[in-house]
This record gives sequence, structure tokens and C-alpha cells, in this order.
Amino acid sequence: MLNLMLIRNQLYIDGKWVDGNGKVPVFDPSNGEVITEVATAGDSECDAAVAAAHKAFPAWAKTAPRVRAEILRKAFELMIAESENIAKLISMENGKVLSDAKGEVAYAAEFFRWFSEEAVRIAGDFRHAPSGDKRILVTHQPIGVSLLITPWNFPAGMATRKIGPALAAGCTVILKPAIETPLTALAIVDILERAGVPQGVVNVVMPTPAGPAVSKMLHDSRVVNLSFTGSTEVGRVLLKEASDRVIRCSMELGGNAPFIVLEDADIDEAVKGLMLAKMRNGGAACTAANRIYVSRKISQKFTESFSKAMGALKMAPGMSEGAQLGASVSVKERNKIAELVDAAVKSGGKIEVGGKVPDGIGAFYPATVLTVEKSNEILKHEIFGPVAPIVEFDSDHEAIELANESEFGLISYVYSKDVKRAIQVSEALQSGMVAINRGLISDPAAPFGGVKQSGLGREGGFDGIHEFLETKYLGIEI
Ligand code: NAD
Repeated sequence: MLNLMLIRNQLYIDGKWVDGNGKVPVFDPSNGEVITEVATAGDSECDAAVAAAHKAFPAWAKTAPRVRAEILRKAFELMIAESENIAKLISMENGKVLSDAKGEVAYAAEFFRWFSEEAVRIAGDFRHAPSGDKRILVTHQPIGVSLLITPWNFPAGMATRKIGPALAAGCTVILKPAIETPLTALAIVDILERAGVPQGVVNVVMPTPAGPAVSKMLHDSRVVNLSFTGSTEVGRVLLKEASDRVIRCSMELGGNAPFIVLEDADIDEAVKGLMLAKMRNGGAACTAANRIYVSRKISQKFTESFSKAMGALKMAPGMSEGAQLGASVSVKERNKIAELVDAAVKSGGKIEVGGKVPDGIGAFYPATVLTVEKSNEILKHEIFGPVAPIVEFDSDHEAIELANESEFGLISYVYSKDVKRAIQVSEALQSGMVAINRGLISDPAAPFGGVKQSGLGREGGFDGIHEFLETKYLGIEI
């Protein structure tokens, strides 16, 4: 069990752990029990966090990149050293199984290492203007105080994917984690404090409800940048709020990933890939495969093999021995999944495996496979749970058309033994990322992000730091 003494449950403002204007419980969704209570922030705490980040910005922006890099590197090392405990904390407040939580900690820590390496490589540009008598000097400067808002599904990864590049670039931040999973974010900030992050550079507030407090911060002239990860619905609201002051926005929003299995795919490999693409995090991932398009020529064999693998998963509390599918983050989220499945069945979908809310406590929903027609409504929703609807198609062209029939465009998956064919299909897909013959491609060294209503901007890779940098052009007469 986790040593409960290690849990931080206060706000972190201007380098101090402080109480807020109240407390709310944080639940373990596998049994409904309260883990601890966490401090909430009122207007004065949010204002103090903005003031602290604003005051700390000039010195942090001028801190040598090497020094910023070494603090991030130290944070990476501490996070790896403490990964067991952080993974348990994630599993406890989020419900995901321990193996997924461990994978998340490794992924999350890597953003600190990657951006410690990027901090010292912020390049500029010096060019001759076409006229010959002028020079063009391009430099990149930290934007300033950045508001970071993160969801509950990857409480560690989504926080470090923003804090890493922000600090590397020289920005100061106010982090607002999801209220369902604040403890992981606070543990990460505890690590950053021990790694030597100066006072005021990182602040954490949990206002409840989030809307009015976030709106106030977005209308504060000291806040100049918003980096949001969450649903498209909330993203739209925040884009409107941010437009009042024309704040820079980076938006990592919802997804509804198609998973295409062409007739020449290796069926065993495709099933293995889909188990990852669908079931990592119990299906609660923006990258989760939600619309499974399988060539009619192989669909029967594929569906049988995939349903067998799904049916064999052990559903149990995330930290229990051998658990492969944990609880959803709350009973409310679990019920949303059940409603989508019930509606899909009412409109003609057939359950191959799962599909029934289990008796007993905890926000559990079983691994479920459905076969549906291409018009079934379930295909329009981001399921965010362990449910895979399968649809048959007859040609590559039809598969591409079906995949692109979505307001989302985060990631797509393509399985084919013919790489040329897979690339041709990938190039026609409207998504920011395509996984070819792989079920998981998230990588801190690669640009993560979507097109259409899945968002704006990229996190990770060489692009991620630019979400926290402003480009400045200096024109010189020679
Ligand atoms: P959510 O949009 O409900 O909440 C995200 C964050 O926004 C939370 O911190 C929440 O407290 C806050 N929030 C909610 N309403 C707000 C408001 N009116 N004003 C300001 N802040 C507000 O999302 P969620 O349920 O926590 O997470 C699931 C969603 O996140 C899914 O849609 C998933 O696809 C998406 N997601 C996207 C990515 C990505 O990289 N594209 C990664 C992870 C999750």
C-alpha cells in the first residue's frame, strides 16, 4: 500500500504549501472510499498564484537555459526513483491498473528529460534579406505566465507534457489539475520543488467549480498563454474566453480514433495492436480506438479473435494482483459508457462479449465488443471506456471515407502488410497522427496533437517548446 504520509493535499502557491477556501474529497473509484480531502482555491488563492507566477517570470526567463535544464533533469531522476509510489497514487485516484499507471509514470517523467535536453537548444536564425542591405534576425522568447489545465485520464503525463516545455522555455505556470485526480499533480509539484524550481515558477490551484475561476484568470492581463488538455466541449468554451484578450492557446482536445484493418493485415498483430489501442487506460484515452473498421473479407475471424482476447481480461481494482482492467474514474463516467452501449444495441448493434454493468461496488464496466452498422450513433461519440464497436467495409476508399466522417481528428490506426498501401491510406486520413501496424505511438520525442476539433498546436517533440515561445524578428540595416 501507499504510504499515505507522502500525499500532498494542499495548494502550492509562491513556493509554499497552503490551505485554500475549503476542502473536497478525493475518491478511490474502485471502492468509492475517500482517499483524502484536498484544498480548493477561491478567488484570492487564484489571484495569489497569478501574482506569484508574474513576479517570478522575469528572473526565470533570464535563468541560464543550462540551469533550467538541470532542474528538469533532476525532476526526471526523482520521478523515476519514486515511480512505484506515484504509480500507486495514480491507480488509487484514477482507477487504472497498476501496469498502466507505471507506464504513465515512465512516459510522464520522460517529458522532463526530453525538455531538459530541449531547454539548451532553442535556436534562432540570421539571414540576409533579399534586398542585400538588410539582415533578418529571428529569436524566440518565453511567452510569459501560462495557465495549464489538465484532465483526469493521465494525471501525470498531461501535467509534465505542459510543465516540461513551459519551464524549459522560461515560462512560469499556474497548473489547474482535474479535481478527480489532483493528488498526482501535487506529487509532481512536490518533486519539482525538491528538484530546485524557484519560488513562484510553478503554482497549483484547484478551484471548484473550475469555470468562473479559470474565466477570471483568462481575463487577468498578467496571464498570456493557455495550454488546455480536455474535452472538445470545454475547449470550445475556453477558446471563446481566451478570445477576449486574444491569448495564445494550445488545445489538446477529444478524439474518436478509427482503427482500420485492411484485408491483407496480419490478423494476430492487428488484434494485439487493438488490445493496446483500445484497452490502455481501460479505454479512457484520447487516443483510444473507438471505431474499428475491418475488411469484410477478414471480419469474422478478426472479431472472434479480438472478442476472445477482450473476454479474457481480468477486471479488478487497479492495484490488485493480476488486474488488467480497472475501474472508470467515477460511477458517473461508467454510467455514460453503459448508456452508449445500451443505445447502440437498441439501434441494432450486437454484443459479442461484455456489455453488462457488473453487480457490486466500484465504477466497473467490462471489456465489450459490439458489431454495428456504419450508421450506428455510438460511432459519433468518444466512448472513453472499454467498448469497441466493429464495422465492416468493402474497399480502402470506403474505409477512408468512414474514418474521416468525424468532427475529431486526433489519431488513426492502420493495419496492412503492404507498407505502400498503408502509407497511401494514412495520407488520406484526416488526423494529426497515424499509427501504422502499431497500437501505441505516443512518444515524448514526437509531436502529439490533432486536426479538426481535436485541437490546435502540438505537444512533445521539437514543436512542444514552441507553444511556450514567442517568435521575435529583429530587422537590421547593414
Ligand atoms: P474536461 O474537459 O471535462 O476537463 C478537463 C479540465 O478542464 C479539468 O481540469 C476540468 O476541471 C477543467 N474544466 C472543466 N470545465 C471547465 C470550465 N468550464 N472552465 C475551465 N476549466 C474547466 O475533460 P476530462 O473529462 O477531464 O478529460 C477527458 C477528455 O480529455 C476527453 O475528451 C479526452 O479525449 C480529452 N483528452 C485529450 C488529450 C489530448 O492530448 N488530445 C489527452 C487526454 C485527454
